[in-house]
Amino acid sequence: MSLIVHKYGGTSMGSTERIQNVARRVAKWHRAGHQMVVVPSAMSGETNRLLGLAREITDNPDPRELDQIAATGEQVSVGLLALALQKQGVKARSYTGWQVPVRTNSAYTKARIESIDDARVREDLGNGYVVIITGFQGIDGAGSITTLGRGGSDTSAVAVAAALKAEECLIYTDVDGVYTTDPRIEPDARRLAKITFEEMLEMASLGSKVLQIRSVEFAGKYKVKTRVLSSLTDPDIDLQEEAQSGTLITYEEDDTMEQAVISGIAFNRDEAKITIAGVPDKPGVAYRILGPVAQANVDVDMIIQNASHDGMTDFSFTVHRNELQKALDVLQAKVQPEINAREISGDNQICKVSVVGIGMRSHVGIASQMFETLAAEGINIQMISTSEIKISVVIADKYMELAVRALHKAFGLS
Ligand code: ADP
Ligand code: ASP
Ligand code: MG
Repeated sequence: MSLIVHKYGGTSMGSTERIQNVARRVAKWHRAGHQMVVVPSAMSGETNRLLGLAREITDNPDPRELDQIAATGEQVSVGLLALALQKQGVKARSYTGWQVPVRTNSAYTKARIESIDDARVREDLGNGYVVIITGFQGIDGAGSITTLGRGGSDTSAVAVAAALKAEECLIYTDVDGVYTTDPRIEPDARRLAKITFEEMLEMASLGSKVLQIRSVEFAGKYKVKTRVLSSLTDPDIDLQEEAQSGTLITYEEDDTMEQAVISGIAFNRDEAKITIAGVPDKPGVAYRILGPVAQANVDVDMIIQNASHDGMTDFSFTVHRNELQKALDVLQAKVQPEINAREISGDNQICKVSVVGIGMRSHVGIASQMFETLAAEGINIQMISTSEIKISVVIADKYMELAVRALHKAFGLS
């Protein structure tokens, strides 16, 4: 008998019919003798709907109130799932984040989990209950409800699994595992039976929304055995078969790992590029530009500074699209008076496409193959960044699908 955590995403919880399928699946695991904790998301579309209501009232909502609103989606889900399990004859009890409690910091809309009190959950498990805990949310030191950022239920589930020292955390979603790239963009994408933790971390951080990046960080830190698998199969399929399906995140490279140099292609459409043209190329210029941006709490991703020309240079960086205006405002108000640049401009018609693979460590020529492939499609590269196991480029948004498909083919992933 093991303690198992299941996480179900929005599509998996998308209707009362699907919720009843989730209940059948969970009941099957429970009957097999496992102690079960289930972490569901809000029903699909619900979080968007709730945040949309807030935006009907104001363009600049108080983040604390946004969390108060958004967190209700998961509260509905856990209650419905508890009822569905009870209907199956399974003892079940649901909790919101604050009831557990899942303690977080106070960074509303992107809070980080600090600790999880497992007393109540353990007691219920000991009494034979399936325990259902809202994903996506927690409570801060002041007693306010917080949320963990979009896709945050993944992180809730892995964190709960870590806190309870669960045997495994199973992330059930609307695809049957982690693919070489998003199968919605490239129908020829292939499911990976295993992916290393490092590769999954890069894929998630570079935009593969199949797992929220923080969930992967948690999984790595606490070595939580994590698997991504489908919630859309017949809920009554053989448990052993189900337990081996999907994609396992592994913490060691082993001989059975697929020997591909590139494991996957990720893309991110959530970034925007800011260019500051004609700045004096003097020591400290990067700091004078990015210091105020950081102080405004805007995260910066890629940065490039061009070679200098007559003592002047151009400086570009990317930020989240939602923060483009905020960053431009800061630059105009605080930076421009100091640096007197020729022009400050923003471009949100860009995307970042990345190739990821631990095989890159031992192979040369991946970058040139990537650039050659993009050139053959007539796609101009605006920015480049690399790490040991990934290469990312910024290109025009309209070429994203073309780039992903061309790279998928060029690296033999189909
Ligand atoms: P959930 O609601 O279950 O959390 P998400 O929509 O957050 O589901 O994540 C699953 C989606 O992630 C898939 O439907 C797929 O379109 C997308 N996705 C992006 N990259 C990948 C990838 N490499 N492998 C599998 N799915 C991916
Ligand atoms: N419901 C939240 C969202 O839509 C959390 C999640 O689905 O993981 O972002
Ligand atoms: Mg998700």
